[in-house]
Amino acid sequence: MDEINKTGDIDQEKKSPEEENKDEDFEKVCFLCHRTESQAGKMISLPGGITVCADCMQKSFNAMDNPEIRNMLNLQNFTGMKGFPDMGMFNMDILKDAMQSPKGVKKPKKEEKKPKAVFDIRSLPAPHRIKAALDDYVIGQEYAKKVISVAVYNHYKRVRTGTNSADEIEIEKSNMLMIGPTGSGKTYLVKTLSRLLDVPLALADATALTEAGYIGDDVESVLSKLLSAADNDVEKAQTGIVFIDEIDKLAKKQNTNQRDVSGESVQQGLLKLLEGAEVEVPVGATSKNAMVPMTTVNTKDILFICAGAFPGLEDIIKRRLTKSSSMGFESTLKDTYDNDPDLLTKATTQDLREYGMIPEFIGRLPMTFALRKLDRDMLVRILKEPKNAILKQYQKLLELDEVRLDFDDAALEAIAEEALSRDTGARALRSVIEEFMLDIMYEIPKDDNIGKVLITREYIEHRGGPVVTMRGAGNALLTGA
Ligand code: ADP
Repeated sequence: MDEINKTGDIDQEKKSPEEENKDEDFEKVCFLCHRTESQAGKMISLPGGITVCADCMQKSFNAMDNPEIRNMLNLQNFTGMKGFPDMGMFNMDILKDAMQSPKGVKKPKKEEKKPKAVFDIRSLPAPHRIKAALDDYVIGQEYAKKVISVAVYNHYKRVRTGTNSADEIEIEKSNMLMIGPTGSGKTYLVKTLSRLLDVPLALADATALTEAGYIGDDVESVLSKLLSAADNDVEKAQTGIVFIDEIDKLAKKQNTNQRDVSGESVQQGLLKLLEGAEVEVPVGATSKNAMVPMTTVNTKDILFICAGAFPGLEDIIKRRLTKSSSMGFESTLKDTYDNDPDLLTKATTQDLREYGMIPEFIGRLPMTFALRKLDRDMLVRILKEPKNAILKQYQKLLELDEVRLDFDDAALEAIAEEALSRDTGARALRSVIEEFMLDIMYEIPKDDNIGKVLITREYIEHRGGPVVTMRGAGNALLTGA
């Protein structure tokens, strides 16, 4: 007993099947760093029921190999111990093999509750049905919702048909590029979509990505995220969605002699993922390291959606549009596009190239479309219409105290106006509401007699209090709020 066997597993005492099943219900925890198996990767079992994670095991071996530590511990003549071969001779590959056990990668034990999916991608919901489901959550952005519904439908149709269709016409991947101001719903649209379709989604930020070998996450880390979103189920991950935000930050820097680590080279690095490649991906970690088990993920059926605000792109489009018109009227023509809310929808590949995106990269994102900047009316609708609208959430909270919460139309407009002034799109709505709802949520539970609260524009603009109605009594203004 207690010897490394051929497969590299360290022998443990034999257990009855019931005992093994019992163990399966618990996550193993590292004896040294106390991380769980889902955090630290597969554990190595040592005699005496002790489990140690690969990182700590490696650190211990490194320490034992260090002559100073060997001196300190009086281990100069020590060449082995019970259960371990000679430290100096220990081949770490054995350990690596041990971790890639024949059982394959284990699923995390924690069961997360997931909302029920509306569609089953295997039954390929038609684009109009996908869009109708998106409409319940995402307000406006009609064109974007239409494009994304069709693209997703085609993508999964392509996945289902496979590349060996009889006529050998290969359907191209419909990766997407979304252009839209911050807070216009880019991330929200993709999140909603993946939830409705019940496909795993990885959200990544392009600014965190660097070329392999530099500090930061290399491009393949996005696949690790996808894999963990798919509960380490490689097949499921291979039909998932990867969303890469802030893609505009990868634009080639103009007029610089510095080595461009975070920009152009990352675009280059992403090319093979976008197109479809077999990639070695670390499991349970975002960086490669000798001690992390690896698995192969094929990206050919993964849908990549890149998004960015592309500040400054409007000027490039404007310049192109005015340049292409006849000379002489330029000053008046320039004005024509100044207040055009749909200018971004006119972006072409040429504009994106001028912005600093490399042609091969844009070429692999054939569906390019823009989201509109949200105006006041859209923000008001976002407040009240979506299935999980913010107002509905607060109403539900107060309903639990048997208090009815209402907002008059002018109050909603005031909230939207305040949010607009912050210039972060719909993202500002929640913070504006939270600022004044704090007082309401604090004051209302003080008095059991309060039956109704009406939020008015005056209250939002700090010119008065909300209108409070007592149970079975007249209106009153809430003081102190
Ligand atoms: P970004 O375009 O910067 O990715 P997000 O998608 O993160 O913006 O939007 C921020 C939040 O604003 C979302 O979580 C969502 O609640 C809300 N939101 C944005 N756009 C819409 C929309 N069109 N419909 C409904 N909610 C929206």
